[in-house]
Amino acid sequence: MVVGRAGFKFQNWAQTYGSNPELYFQPTCAEEVKEILDLARQRSKRVKVVGGGHSPSDIACTDDFMIRLDKMNKVLKVKRSSTYSKIVIGWLLSDPHSVIALHSLSAPRIGAVSEVAAAGVIGTGTHNTGISHGILPTQVLSLTMMTASGEILECSESVNADIFQAARLHLGSLGVILNLTLQCRSAFRLQEIQFSSPLQQVLDNLDSHLKASEYFRFYWFPHTENVSVYYQDPTDKPPSFKTSWFWDCFVGYYLLELLLWISTFISSLVPTINRFFFWLLFSGRSERVDISYKVFNFDCRFKQHVQDWAIPIKKTSEALMQLKSWLEKNPHVVAHFPVEVRFARGDDILLSPCYNQDSCYMNIIMYRPYGKDVPHGEYWLEYEQIMKRVGGRPHWAKAHTCTRKDFEKMYPAFNKFKNIREKLDPTGMFLNAYLEKVLY
Ligand SMILES: Cc1cc2nc3c(=O)[nH]c(=O)nc-3n(C[C@H](O)[C@H](O)[C@H](O)COP(=O)(O)OP(=O)(O)OC[C@H]3O[C@@H](n4cnc5c(N)ncnc54)[C@H](O)[C@@H]3O)c2cc1C
Repeated sequence: MVVGRAGFKFQNWAQTYGSNPELYFQPTCAEEVKEILDLARQRSKRVKVVGGGHSPSDIACTDDFMIRLDKMNKVLKVKRSSTYSKIVIGWLLSDPHSVIALHSLSAPRIGAVSEVAAAGVIGTGTHNTGISHGILPTQVLSLTMMTASGEILECSESVNADIFQAARLHLGSLGVILNLTLQCRSAFRLQEIQFSSPLQQVLDNLDSHLKASEYFRFYWFPHTENVSVYYQDPTDKPPSFKTSWFWDCFVGYYLLELLLWISTFISSLVPTINRFFFWLLFSGRSERVDISYKVFNFDCRFKQHVQDWAIPIKKTSEALMQLKSWLEKNPHVVAHFPVEVRFARGDDILLSPCYNQDSCYMNIIMYRPYGKDVPHGEYWLEYEQIMKRVGGRPHWAKAHTCTRKDFEKMYPAFNKFKNIREKLDPTGMFLNAYLEKVLY
């Protein structure tokens, strides 16, 4: 019999949200997951499965029952011939990297971190970049889910197809995802070339950049014209590493955090900090070659507040220039670097921010040096207004102020998702405060 632990405190990675689940469970098999759901039903408790806890919002929080599937951590099946691998959820993405690599496979793309669960990643619509690629949920070929009644459902394009279109971006609201089948490609190395370019030039040549590199993205340094462009492309070249001596040594890390902390007292320093670090780290050109996941992953060193909306790709320049000119007109508002701009192909997943449209994701951040909150309300509000004006949809895991009324306008299939959700979970077992805000 599975036993729940009292006294567990949950906190998300950015330490911006947390909760005190009444009982915390780490089941070892599907039968134990069913026992937990039975107990929750008997006691009228809600249930939340948590993955890596990396969502910057309160989407994974609950004060009732919390489940983590980290004890169900094994690769179920790796089928080399048709290039897919089946992994059991609860396993952080960092672990299967090495296992599937043994079979000469890699995920075609992952997000900036791997200390996240596969079900967590797809649950919020995690994305990377590359206009020929969809968001990460588009890599899912099938999944197995336990619903609130304890029934196990298989879904794919051919079995329970409607549920599959909802479950590939599930918000943790449909059931417990027990495993999923992930599309892989033959293991590959990526060459990353980074170079600087003025903002206007990058925006004027967006189409050529998108064609020039499979995984193109860029960083804009607010309060400046500076941009750092990244091309990442599969290569047969041997591994080689750039010497980012300053960044990798502790001096760079400590100096940036210290300067950001000082700027919480003298905010007018922020534009200079942005300029200085661009000059120091990003103004030249660098290259490296490594295993794909090591290049996709990024060492996010600082806790931060973050917003990331997907907008129609044709609105990229308009939206970024509006943000830039608003910051210029409001010098009392400061913005940390970088604004990260990435791209994703449109898809047909019901709650995907890229539903039916090729999209540009525009990610803004405000760091929390030494855990200190930095004022960002005005910046956040203006950014959201711009994103809404150009037809954007917010990342489900990150900060936003949208509610059901906004989402009904943004998503043609919003009510279809809700109907599927209510059939699978009629008593609202998998709801929490975040989901009530966005769905009801
Ligand atoms: C440092 C950092 C870098 C990031 N980089 C990127 C990036 O490059 N691109 C991007 O798009 N996002 C990025 N994010 C956001 C991140 O990818 C998402 O928040 C993702 O959902 C985190 O996965 P997780 O396993 O931590 O999920 P959690 O935050 O633990 O959970 C997310 C949701 O999934 C549900 N869930 C988890 N497991 C299950 C399961 N087995 N069954 C049912 N529901 C489940 C939870 O209930 C919750 O609703 C980043 C976040 C951080 C902190």
